[in-house]
Amino acid sequence: MTETRLKISLAHLYPELLNIYGDFGNVLTIKQRCEWRNIDIEITNINIGDKIDPEIFDFYFIGGGQDKQQIEVSRELQLQKNALHDAMNSGAVALGICGGYQLFGHYYQPHNGARLLGIGLLDAYTVAGDKRFIGNVTAKTEFTVPKTLVGFENHSGLTYLQGDTKPLAMVETGAGNNSRDKTEGARFKNIFGTYLHGPFLPKNPHFTDFLIKLALEKRYRDNIELQKLNDELELQAHISLINKLY
Ligand code: GLN
Repeated sequence: MTETRLKISLAHLYPELLNIYGDFGNVLTIKQRCEWRNIDIEITNINIGDKIDPEIFDFYFIGGGQDKQQIEVSRELQLQKNALHDAMNSGAVALGICGGYQLFGHYYQPHNGARLLGIGLLDAYTVAGDKRFIGNVTAKTEFTVPKTLVGFENHSGLTYLQGDTKPLAMVETGAGNNSRDKTEGARFKNIFGTYLHGPFLPKNPHFTDFLIKLALEKRYRDNIELQKLNDELELQAHISLINKLY
């Protein structure tokens, strides 16, 4: 009897518009860490005008970008709002990076021009500040072991969390959400946002696996234990960034 292979269906949202600082590398990391475990992964690019069917996807990814690209994606996301809320309520996993993260909230108010509407997956809002935060970040999360998350931030947006939306992590070095309350990123249900570029996931293999496990458990409605991988190289990259900052 052939053993049925596990599978994940991933929607990459607006890769031609929101893919700054190599954020596409996050999708490649999820793909590779699935393939190393013989987990099938189907990746669908969702571009402007494409309709999202929440029944199909277990995982959604959206990268970061400049204000200009966010304007177009903000408009398009309003057409997908109900589908993405249905996805969230079905337990689907989503990861938004920086500009994409901002649009998971209620709105992003840039320096100039009109407020960009988000889709309210996260109870959060973002207002552009006077300072641009650029640099390496280390933070501590409660969702994985090890607890450390590392990455690179480049944003002027100041994000504030409300209600049941909790921080992804607490910053130890860097600005994080707003450089004031020491929070970094956000989580509500299986919706995650972070300011960490790099790309984020290659240097945080433990967090990548945490998201893959959540997506598989959403699809199969069962507890799934992932096969351990040799993460020696990935963790050397992870630790090298921590050592650089301390
Ligand atoms: N334009 C947004 C900001 O400056 C997001 C930038 C990004 O995605 N790196 O905050």
